[in-house]
Amino acid sequence: MAAEFNEESSSNKSTFICSNCGFECHYEYFGKTPPFSKSIVLLEDAYVIRDPFSSSAGHLTLGGQCFLCSGDVCVSQRCSIFYTKRFCIACVEGNMEDFPKEIQKEIQQKDIASN
Ligand SMILES: [Zn+2]
Ligand SMILES: [Zn+2]
Repeated sequence: MAAEFNEESSSNKSTFICSNCGFECHYEYFGKTPPFSKSIVLLEDAYVIRDPFSSSAGHLTLGGQCFLCSGDVCVSQRCSIFYTKRFCIACVEGNMEDFPKEIQKEIQQKDIASN
């Protein structure tokens, strides 16, 4: 068996991995002010890549860090919510009473929908 490492072994690109769903993607920047999106300040430190579908400078947010457990979570509604800060779903469920009713409802509806 030839060693087939097609993976760019020399790359120091970092990989974002969602701790909830396992979504994996190289990210280009982590922080609030992506260098390729001029004059944009994100609401949170986020993992971002250049938007491949935008000809002008743009970015896509892959995910962020949970404010409570610092786990990396993607922006999918199944994995995290943004309520002044980003929270992973596990932390929201574990601290349900700290969140407003609307958020609690949203999470509960998601649970029903995913069953
Ligand atoms: Zn996810
Ligand atoms: Zn969390």
